[in-house]
Amino acid sequence: MLKAEVRPMIDDAAHAGVRDILATADNVLRFLDESGVERACCINYVSPDVMGFTREVNDWVASFTKGHRDRLVAVGSVNPLHEKDVRSEIRRVLDLGIGMIKVHPPHQLYTPNAYRDDLPQVAEIYRECEQRSIPIMFHTGTSIFPKARNVFADPMPIDDVAIDFPKLTIIIAHAGRPLYGETAQFLVRRHPNVFVDLSGIPPKALLKYVPRLTDLADKALWGTDWPSPGVTSIRKNVEEFRALGLGADVERKILWDNASRLFG
Ligand SMILES: [Zn+2]
Repeated sequence: MLKAEVRPMIDDAAHAGVRDILATADNVLRFLDESGVERACCINYVSPDVMGFTREVNDWVASFTKGHRDRLVAVGSVNPLHEKDVRSEIRRVLDLGIGMIKVHPPHQLYTPNAYRDDLPQVAEIYRECEQRSIPIMFHTGTSIFPKARNVFADPMPIDDVAIDFPKLTIIIAHAGRPLYGETAQFLVRRHPNVFVDLSGIPPKALLKYVPRLTDLADKALWGTDWPSPGVTSIRKNVEEFRALGLGADVERKILWDNASRLFG
C-alpha cells in the first residue's frame, strides 16, 4: 500500500532483505529469533494521505499475526478523518484481535485531543480501548516522510487524553524525539497511565533525549522502529542499548518486565 515516494525510504540497500522478512509471519519469527527477540509489536495505522495505508491494514495485520499472537502483537488503527462511523469501526478493528491501537498524528493529520474541538468522534477510539484494556500508542516527535505534518508532532495534547481517559493505557512512542523530550518525560512522570517507548531513538543518543531514563525505568519500553529510515538492525540496537551500562535491573525492566506487564 505504500505510496511511491515513501517506499524507497524503508526498502533500500540499508534494509537488506526487508521485503522477504516481512513477506510471512514465519520469516518475521525467524528474524526475531536471530535477533534474540521474544515478542514484537507489528505497527500499522491507517494513513491514506501520507503513507498510503487504508483501513484494510487492520485486516492484513490481523491475518498476518493469526496463530502467532503469543509472539506478534497486531497493532492497527482507525483514522477518524476517513470514517463515517468511528464507533463501529473501532469495534470491528478490535474484534479482529488487534492488541494495540496506534495513533499517528503527523501521518493521520489530527491532534490527539481533537475530540475537545472539531472531531468529537476521536473520543470513541479512546473510550472503546479504555473499556477493553487495549493500550494506545501515540507517535510523538517529528517525521521526515514526505507530506508528514509536524504541526501534530508535539506530545502535549496527550495530557488531555490522560486526564479524560484515566484508565486508558497510553504509550508515548519515540519519547517526543528530537524536539519534545522534556514534554514527553513530563507526561510520563505526571500520569500513572502514561508510558514511554524508546523506539526510533539511536540508542547511543538515548540519554541525550531521555536524560531521566533511569527514573522512568518502570514506565519505559524498548523498541526499535525497524525498518524505519536509519533503523537497520534490531540486534545492534539492543547491543548498543546494553552498552549504555544502565545496570541489569534497569535493562531488565525496559527490555522485558514493563512490556510483559502491559501486554500480558
Ligand atoms: Zn511512530
